Amino acid sequence: MSWTTKQCEQILEHAWHDSAVCPVDQTTLQVRLAEMMSGDYRLEATCPKCGRHITLGREKDPRRSAFRLWTAEEIGAMVDATLQGKVPKCPVCSAGIHVKENSLATGTTITLQCPRCGCHEEREIARGR
Ligand SMILES: [Zn+2]
Ligand SMILES: [Zn+2]
Repeated sequence: MSWTTKQCEQILEHAWHDSAVCPVDQTTLQVRLAEMMSGDYRLEATCPKCGRHITLGREKDPRRSAFRLWTAEEIGAMVDATLQGKVPKCPVCSAGIHVKENSLATGTTITLQCPRCGCHEEREIARGR
C-alpha cells in the first residue's frame, strides 16, 4: 500500500509549510529533509501509524512547472526582510529561504537560496544603509 500521486503532492506541499499529516489516518508524518550538494533535495516522509513512506525530490514537485526566477522587486523584498531579522519566504514556492550573510569591508553580501525551487541570488548591501 502506498499513497496516491495526488496524496503525495499534498504531503509535499504541507511538508514545506509546517507539518504534513497522513491523508489516510491523519497521523502527523515524520519528515526528513536532506539537501544535496547539487542543490536538489530529498524529502522523506513516513507515517508512523500505517508505515506508508515516500521520498520526493524537486523533479516530483507538482508545482515545478510554475517555478521561475525571482524578479528584482521580490529579491529586494527578501533582502529587506532579512535586514529586519525575519526569515523571508520564497515568492515562487513559499518555502523558507536560506540566508547567508557575509561581512565585507565594503558592506554585506546577502545570499538567498530557496531549497524548494532552487532559486538563488546574491546582493551586496553597501555599508551605512
Ligand atoms: Zn498513515
Ligand atoms: Zn522557492
